[in-house]
Amino acid sequence: MGDFIFSASDSDSSPISRRQSGGMSRRDALRLAALGLGAGGALGASGMDAQIADKGGIEDASPSPIPEADINRKDYNGPNVVIIRFGGGVRRREAIDETHTFSPYLLKKLAPEGTLFTNMFYDEGGGFEVGHGQGTLNLLTGHYDHYRDVSDKFLGEGFESRFPTLFEYLRRSFSVADHEALIINGEDRTQEEFYSFSNSHLFGARFRSSVLSLYRYKLHLLKKKLGEITPDHPDFEKVGKAFREMSSRNYRSGASLEQSEVIESFWAEWEHFYGRSGLKNPRGDRLLTELSSWALKRLRPRLMMVNYNDPDYVHWGYMAHYTRAISIIDQGIQRIYQECQADEFYRDNTIFVIAPDCGRDTNPLVRVPCQHHFNTRSSREIFGLVLGPGVARGQVVDRQCEQISLPVTAATIAGIPMTEAEAPVLEEALV
Ligand SMILES: [Zn+2]
Repeated sequence: MGDFIFSASDSDSSPISRRQSGGMSRRDALRLAALGLGAGGALGASGMDAQIADKGGIEDASPSPIPEADINRKDYNGPNVVIIRFGGGVRRREAIDETHTFSPYLLKKLAPEGTLFTNMFYDEGGGFEVGHGQGTLNLLTGHYDHYRDVSDKFLGEGFESRFPTLFEYLRRSFSVADHEALIINGEDRTQEEFYSFSNSHLFGARFRSSVLSLYRYKLHLLKKKLGEITPDHPDFEKVGKAFREMSSRNYRSGASLEQSEVIESFWAEWEHFYGRSGLKNPRGDRLLTELSSWALKRLRPRLMMVNYNDPDYVHWGYMAHYTRAISIIDQGIQRIYQECQADEFYRDNTIFVIAPDCGRDTNPLVRVPCQHHFNTRSSREIFGLVLGPGVARGQVVDRQCEQISLPVTAATIAGIPMTEAEAPVLEEALV
C-alpha cells in the first residue's frame, strides 16, 4: 500500500544506501542540492550544503549574537511545565460552566487541585485582534501584540513575535536540550510550528523548542526515503517534490527543519509502531494526546505545550463538532495529567497551565451561536487553570484578569526569568 505522504513503494531501496535516520550525510546533502534544496533553498536560511552537512547537521544561519562563552546556562532544577492550549476557540460555557460543561474532568477533578480563573480575558480592552495564532502567542510570550502574516497566505497566520517565548527564556537561562522543550502541534495549523522562537535579538532560534507533529513526521519519512534511493530512481523526483512542498511551509528566516538525533530516533520508533500509512495512528486532537504521551515517556520534556485545536471545526456550522472536540480534549487532559502523576519525574513536580487560545462569539440570532469569533466580547472571554507545586489549591478566582498573565505566573513559580514580559503575576495562584 502507498504511504500517506507519497505513493512510492518501500521495497526498492538500495541496500547500500539504507541507513538509520539521523544527522545528514554529505551524500544526502548533495542529493538535496540536486533537487534544488541546497543552501538558501526551500529549507530556509539554515541551508543544506555539504560543508554544513559535514558537521553532522544543519545549523542556524542566524544564531544569537551573544557569544557562547557569555551564556552560562545553569542546570534547571525547577518544576516541569505543561501548557495545554484548550483550543481552538472555546467558550467558558462549554468548559467551566457546571451546567453546560463538556469537560467534566477539567472542571470537577482538576480545577479543585489548583486555582481556576473564571473571569479571564483575551485582552479585555479590545485593542488586539482575536485569533488562534495570536492567542497562542499570548500564551507563549506574555504579551499582546499586533501581528501581521509574513507568509503571504490567504487568511494566513504566519506570525513572528518580537517578544521571546517561554521556551527561549527557559533555554537561554538553563541547560535544557531542544527536545526537552516541546510544542505538540496539530495537522492543520503548520504555521504554529514556527511560533517556537521570536525575533528578539537576545533570544531567537538558537533557543527555540522542538516540535512534534505529523508534519515533522512526514519530513522525517521523506528525508529517510531520500536517503534510500538514488537520483536515477523513478521516485526520486516525486519524493523530492513532496519534500520541497513540505519544506516551503517554513516561512521563518532562521527556522531549521533539521531534527535532532533524539527526535529522529523518536520518529523511527513511531514509524516502527504506527507505520507510514497514517491510518493506524490517532488523528486530530487524539493524535496530540498520543504524541504527548510518547514524548513524556521518551523525551522527558521540562516544558511542553500541547496545541489542541479541533473545537474550531464548529466554523463549518455543526455544534456537535465543537462539543465532541471539547470532550476529546478533556479526555486528553485526563490522560496527560494521570500519566504525569504516575511518573516519578513528573508527579507533584509539574505545573499545569490550561487555557483556551481565545473564546468564541455568542450570537443568539443564529443557529450555531458560537460558530465564529469576530472580536466580540464573548470571543475574549476565556478562563485559566493553574495547578501544581507552588500553586494554591481549591481556589476559584472571579476577578477580571488577563490571559498574558498565565505564562508569567508559570514562569514565576518555576523560577524561569521572563524578563521582558510586563503582564502581572496572578498572585492568587501563588501559595
Ligand atoms: Zn477559528
